[in-house]
Amino acid sequence: MVLPMDNFSTRNFSNYGKVLSPHVILIRPERRQYLTSNSLLFLGDQTYLLDSGYQYQGDQLKKIRDAIDIDGILFSHYHIDHVFGCHILPESKKMIHEEEVDALRSFDNFIQFCFKDQTISSQQWNIWKLRFKNLLKREGINDWSDLRLDNVITFGSNENIDLGATQLQILHLPGHSPGHCGVYETENQILFIGDIDLSGKFGPWYGWWNSELDTFKKSVEYVIDFVSRNEISRIVSSHTHDVSKEEGMHLLNNFLHPFDEREQQIKTYITQKRTGVTLKQITDQSIIYQGKQSDPPYVREYFEFVHVKKHIEALMKKNEVISEGDKIFST
Ligand SMILES: [Zn+2]
Repeated sequence: MVLPMDNFSTRNFSNYGKVLSPHVILIRPERRQYLTSNSLLFLGDQTYLLDSGYQYQGDQLKKIRDAIDIDGILFSHYHIDHVFGCHILPESKKMIHEEEVDALRSFDNFIQFCFKDQTISSQQWNIWKLRFKNLLKREGINDWSDLRLDNVITFGSNENIDLGATQLQILHLPGHSPGHCGVYETENQILFIGDIDLSGKFGPWYGWWNSELDTFKKSVEYVIDFVSRNEISRIVSSHTHDVSKEEGMHLLNNFLHPFDEREQQIKTYITQKRTGVTLKQITDQSIIYQGKQSDPPYVREYFEFVHVKKHIEALMKKNEVISEGDKIFST
């Protein structure tokens, strides 16, 4: 039975998630499996879900869907662990930042979007196609159209979304992905910052070609400034529990360190090898992933390579390294 809006109370939702305020419920994945993420449920005159992470099949989101009408889903960004569960709400309106809407139009668009300005070899194309097809199948989806993203619409960088009893302010926080966004819920001052991830497990992730190192760092600095300037009751990121403003500030500052630490480690390695090093040799050092096992090895190696390449490009811009043939040298 679907509850009429004026009858529900946040108490009804305490079985499904953590009640952060009278209008906001944090839903954490029940099964801590690979490629899951948190959702927020905003209860206003309209009910919106923020992110519909992968592997929700059969768990609490379906139970909530059966208890209350969910008018729409906002996606913080297009990555699969934030989107691939959206098929369980086929009729709900879907919204994503205008820079990423093309990625959700088709399966081919989705893959191409990840490889901004890069030519994809047919081998790479097949590898990623197979990987995403298998991940979709695991969720019971055989075709992209089954995700029911045909009705996706866009929001802009600083848009306010009026849900009646509560208001959402969109914060465009690009870098992790081009249209990555946070959300500030103004009624109860709850800040969601997506994959500016406060779990402390990995640090900043910029492993697709459309990720941007410097832009990401600037977005983290913007969030630190935003938190210092605004009333904040809880801060929620996508892969861990919610934290207080004070704890969040501490974790956000820690999140900034790996940008420079990784660059320094890569530079040190290049400096030590006076005869030059190849990108492959730097990638093999596992400076970014540090041997962590969350992705299959071929996926991890690829993402390690992209992270390293972005640091090399940044070091070349600063004239701290140069390349000759396939080798990189310290200047
Ligand atoms: Zn992401």
